[in-house]
Amino acid sequence: MIYPWLTPIWQQIDRYWQQQPHAWLLYGPPGIGKLAFAEHLAQALLCESLQSGHQPCGHCPSCHLFNQHSHPDFLLVSPEEADESKSERKLALIKVETVRKVLDFAHLSAHRGGRRVALIYPAESMNTQAANALLKILEEPPAGMTFILVSHHKDRLLPTIKSRCRQVALLKPNHQQALAYVEQHHGDQAADLLAFHGGAPLFEEETAHNQLRQELLPLLAKPRLLALMDYAASFDKQKLALATFLDWMSKWLIDMTLAQQKIPVKFYPQWQQTLAEISASLDPLALFALIDKLTALTPYGRHTLNVKMQLEDLFIDYLQLWQHHNNQ
Ligand SMILES: [Zn+2]
Repeated sequence: MIYPWLTPIWQQIDRYWQQQPHAWLLYGPPGIGKLAFAEHLAQALLCESLQSGHQPCGHCPSCHLFNQHSHPDFLLVSPEEADESKSERKLALIKVETVRKVLDFAHLSAHRGGRRVALIYPAESMNTQAANALLKILEEPPAGMTFILVSHHKDRLLPTIKSRCRQVALLKPNHQQALAYVEQHHGDQAADLLAFHGGAPLFEEETAHNQLRQELLPLLAKPRLLALMDYAASFDKQKLALATFLDWMSKWLIDMTLAQQKIPVKFYPQWQQTLAEISASLDPLALFALIDKLTALTPYGRHTLNVKMQLEDLFIDYLQLWQHHNNQ
């Protein structure tokens, strides 16, 4: 299945088809349907009765097996769950042992006599060892084998891997298309949710997350020390990753800088008025410094460091912005 906004991009697949690249790299922002697109490509590569435009037929034995998730010549490689608790505080990686399994798979002969396809998602979750192991396979690709790499962050892939792939950019839908989709799936808060997700329409809204985020925003609009410290404790109790908090707060700070320059805010449009009022007399340099601090923490967003302490520290910096403000 291809989401409607990605349908025009299939034409590029169609165009490159004759060259039969050994490896494809499909990249674009999260939440736009890249995995579904990649699976559609895999199904097409395996289909035994291709339709016009190199579309999979959906009916042949191969398509049937693919749709049952039991095609013996297809391998989906994803990070293993870090542990059974599925804690989002642990970084999920594709390790070298997993890539070795791909190597074994690549050298088998195809069960159905056609090609074999391995899909790696997301490709940037390979650690260095795994990426190097994959590079070796890409340098001498076994006959009949196609790799599909899918990436949210192409800049995190080895240049040597990228250069061996046929690269195809998958784009975000325009606002109207995205909004129509989100309205259909999330109802009346659609515009706010879509803005928060940066215009990418595919996301899962977890109730616990949503609620904690809704609690955070009024606190940031009217910060008080004790309430913020309480918030840090209750965020920590939910065992959410620091990355989640950094995402929420940096979007707020970015909106503050926009509001300060009298530009429409991007992520929290329902707070436009408040953001404009509170940011009017804040020191822009201090605001940027705090954004930089959050950015610097991003690489540690999935580590199990003391999340509560990090939040408290950031809140204190945030309050200091306001103390300058009150002194004026
Ligand atoms: Zn088919």
